[in-house]
Amino acid sequence: MSFPNEEFADVLLANEMFVLGFKHSELTGTARKGLAIVTCMDSRISPLAVVGMKAGDAKILRNAGARVTDDVLRTLVLASYLLGVNRVLVMPHTDCRMAIADEASIHATIQQQFGVDTSSLEFRTVSNQQEALTEDVARIRSYPLLQKGVSVAGAIYNVSTGKLEPVDC
Ligand SMILES: [Zn+2]
Repeated sequence: MSFPNEEFADVLLANEMFVLGFKHSELTGTARKGLAIVTCMDSRISPLAVVGMKAGDAKILRNAGARVTDDVLRTLVLASYLLGVNRVLVMPHTDCRMAIADEASIHATIQQQFGVDTSSLEFRTVSNQQEALTEDVARIRSYPLLQKGVSVAGAIYNVSTGKLEPVDC
């Protein structure tokens, strides 16, 4: 299948501009600031900008709802042993679709609007964001394969103000 040029024309054009000003070629894959951020795919969040960092500083892991899944744990194990990560911030956000609707209603919406049964997927929606965050942070802390001494924290990002609200987890 050939590359879908039409659909991605703006992406490729913007990249040509990016290459012209590219300055990060001396960076390695090690997180210079030792930080990994687990956050949502929400397009309002620029994770590096939120914490005043830039390319090379931190690992960014994203999925729907900023949930700590097996794949997040797998990635954090690699990041902690091999890529310089010694602290993890789990960062869900306000006005998250995954915290507004429940599992059943999201499946029902997709079924009604697109006629597709997604019930074999677990979307991992959240009914209480602070509780889910506490669970997710605990899941990382107790994961036996993670490098010892990694500091794990949770904070909720406010998409209206840009403020990060630390949560006691
Ligand atoms: Zn979200």
